[in-house]
Amino acid sequence: MDKEAIRLKYREERDKRLRPDGNDQYVRLTGRFSRYLDDPYTPRTEREPKTDDVTVAFIGGGFAGLLTGARLKEAGVEDVRIVEKGGDFGGTWYWNRYPGAQCDTASYVYMPLLEETGHMPTEKYAHAPEILEHCRRIGKHFGLYDDALFHTEVTGLEWDGSRSRWIVTTDRGDAFTARFLAMGIGPLHVPKLPGIPGIEDFRGHSFHTSRWDYDYTGGDPSGAPLDRLGDKRVGVIGTGATAVQCVPHLARACGELHVFQRTPSSVDVRDNRPTDPEWFASIATPGWQRRWLENFTAMQTGVLADEDLVMDGWTDIARRVRTRIAELPPEERTLERMLAAFEDSDFEKMAEIRDRVDAVVEDPETARALKAWYRQLCKRPCFHDEYLQAFNRPNTHLVDTDGKGVERITAKGVVAAGREYDLDCLIYASGFEVGTEFTRRAGYDLVGRGGVRLSERWADGMRTLHGIHVHGFPNVFIVQPTQGANLVSNIPHNLTESGRTIAAIVRHALDHGHREVEVTAEAEDAWVELLLTGTGGLLGGADCTPGYYNNEGQDAGLLGRLFVGYPHGATAFFDYIDRWRASGTFEGLAFR
Ligand code: NDP
Repeated sequence: MDKEAIRLKYREERDKRLRPDGNDQYVRLTGRFSRYLDDPYTPRTEREPKTDDVTVAFIGGGFAGLLTGARLKEAGVEDVRIVEKGGDFGGTWYWNRYPGAQCDTASYVYMPLLEETGHMPTEKYAHAPEILEHCRRIGKHFGLYDDALFHTEVTGLEWDGSRSRWIVTTDRGDAFTARFLAMGIGPLHVPKLPGIPGIEDFRGHSFHTSRWDYDYTGGDPSGAPLDRLGDKRVGVIGTGATAVQCVPHLARACGELHVFQRTPSSVDVRDNRPTDPEWFASIATPGWQRRWLENFTAMQTGVLADEDLVMDGWTDIARRVRTRIAELPPEERTLERMLAAFEDSDFEKMAEIRDRVDAVVEDPETARALKAWYRQLCKRPCFHDEYLQAFNRPNTHLVDTDGKGVERITAKGVVAAGREYDLDCLIYASGFEVGTEFTRRAGYDLVGRGGVRLSERWADGMRTLHGIHVHGFPNVFIVQPTQGANLVSNIPHNLTESGRTIAAIVRHALDHGHREVEVTAEAEDAWVELLLTGTGGLLGGADCTPGYYNNEGQDAGLLGRLFVGYPHGATAFFDYIDRWRASGTFEGLAFR
């Protein structure tokens, strides 16, 4: 292997794609684009505005809200109101119902609260309808539907220090108060469109993958054929994890399908299979899911584990790196040598993935264009056994733009790689806002103690204790992975732990008659200092081809350096937070 030649090729491919406008290349879905956000799944029902007082208000009805709500209910906090912009629970699984949507992490660790709810995932990698149903199951099991407000968007959050209450206002006329306020809005919940000239001119049908229009395509989320596309010319813009899953379904159904590619994804083997109930019964002994979660996390974060219980695409990546490092004689295990071993393992894996393209894709030119030239964790790794195969169909055409992207959209279709493609339907698989400010993605700001806004407090980047608590914002809990475990390969695990933490704090405050809890400025500063001692994680460095993993290739400064997890890794964080919670002193928080 000529490593220097591969490094050079990676740099060339990155340089082709770097662009000065970074995140600004995308269009926000406001004004005339807001129709792309309409909910195609659930009709809106009218209700009376709420003006009462609740113990906990939670913004977001995805896994963050469900898991925190579940832990609060377990802790005897009955009065939990979830406010959700969608028509039901589910968050990302509510919105992303595109055909083929499926979880990319083994469902035995990805799907939370399996023991508590008694559910056996039907497949190693569950499909979206089963995960959405599981979200509903959690909602019902823990009584979270009772006080949930769906199709409701928060418009204002203001701390009233005289009453130690948060005042919550919404677009449905609600103006209620909450003693504690928590929020988990999801890292990927605001769809974006590429800012391509002419995007408003297209006269055909168009939608974003997170609002799939089954009325137009036919079929349904469980994989029924898209039977209204047989005479249609359809285009897909984007080739990320979403496109990789929906393209095979479109390829089977469309008259003609054009897939417009700027950067190919790395697509490794999926190898999905149904769960064998006997096998499941043999592993599902009390405490099994926690053991599996710990094992998965340990595999991911370089902690020695005797066996790989989960054996999915993520643990495969980690196992290879560890094997390489283990081959080094102990006296040679310097940081430099370990990083070199990591790079070697990456070169080997990416070569396998490129070889797979050659083995599967019949047309050599198409195969060449589908090969990913970057390190595997520069972009979200994908796993699929029908995506590459779809390009062998005579109706399915890859339109590779050599890193440039689609040039223009016209009334009739798409101009790319110097040619116009006439289309009846254009599907945007163009992803979600990631690198933009929290308050822009949330759609609201928080006005905390002394009238200070969260957008002001975080103007130079996120500052928290454990990713949860913010100084100046009493009784607020933020539920997301950054500045905590930051385990990106299994987001729900981060949220389960945050739920436990928040339930313990709320219980403690209620039991001891405390009206307020707030992180001290010193504890928050110390946590931020600690975060900055880390290496910044392995995802999306400056050498990577641009994408949301590396802020589209632009240096985000301090803001980027704070977009990290606990420097000692996810396993160490979960151990630490377990001890912190169990101590009962909640060091760094002030109760009053
Ligand atoms: P991504 O942001 O990953 O992909 C967007 C795609 O649009 C990229 O291929 C991008 O190209 C392309 N694009 C943007 N602008 C243009 C343009 N002007 N011309 C042509 N192409 C363009 O979004 P996804 O929805 O695919 O995935 C988002 C995330 O959601 C994933 O990374 C993953 O974390 C999560 N997800 C998880 C799944 C699971 O676990 N089951 C399944 C699906 C998604 P370029 O790469 O060049 O920027």
